[in-house]
Amino acid sequence: MMVAQQFHEIEKRVLDACARSGRRPEDVTLIAVSKTKPVELLWQAYEAGARDFGENKVQEILEKEPRLPGDIRWHMIGHLQTNKVRQIVGRTCLIHSVDSVKLALEIQKESAKKDLITDVLLEVNVAEEESKFGFRLEETEEALRQISRLSNVRVCGLMTIAPFVSNAEENRQVFRKLNKFYVDMKSKNIDNVNMNVLSMGMTGDFEVAVEEGATMVRVGTGIFGARWKMGD
Ligand SMILES: *Cc1c(COP(=O)(O)O)cnc(C)c1O
Repeated sequence: MMVAQQFHEIEKRVLDACARSGRRPEDVTLIAVSKTKPVELLWQAYEAGARDFGENKVQEILEKEPRLPGDIRWHMIGHLQTNKVRQIVGRTCLIHSVDSVKLALEIQKESAKKDLITDVLLEVNVAEEESKFGFRLEETEEALRQISRLSNVRVCGLMTIAPFVSNAEENRQVFRKLNKFYVDMKSKNIDNVNMNVLSMGMTGDFEVAVEEGATMVRVGTGIFGARWKMGD
């Protein structure tokens, strides 16, 4: 029950952020980040209306997916190792975490084998934090152009994990910077690129992210409660 209430509360806060910033609610998707959480809690979110779930481990998607309804859209949001690509291709609606051309090439290879086109986002380390994966902003256009040549990979937009801050306002410039770059890349109309997704904002800062143009927000703790292990 808690999960349902919290999910509705977050949905409402997304709507309020849309209203404040003149965004259309249908342009923002709330992803329920269910990593480390048991299937029972995902069911509660599902029954409250959640259809987009985010996980950061391939194994966890593979375990949970068969135990939940088939209309769920699974988002891979965590760092993806090339040796796990084979298992995940065809199992997700979107891979948010493409952080190297090498990884994109592997996704291309496995997608071609399965005769699929895999939708991905490029992860951008906007704040250039040492501890984070992702392209630096200055190298993202070149990577985008290279990856756009892969016929079984379709870049649908950009993702960032903003720094951990105590006041969400501190991340406004990070979100604004990525949105500016996103709009710029969109205007270039690169072949085989469909710049329509801007994935940014988590429990601590999703409202600011919506105000700054996010089309997907990834909320875990705010819906499912705290996770136990550090780094989860
Ligand atoms: C865990 C995680 C989230 C959700 O974080 P919360 O602060 O619990 O909302 C969002 N995005 C990514 C990539 C994550 O790994």
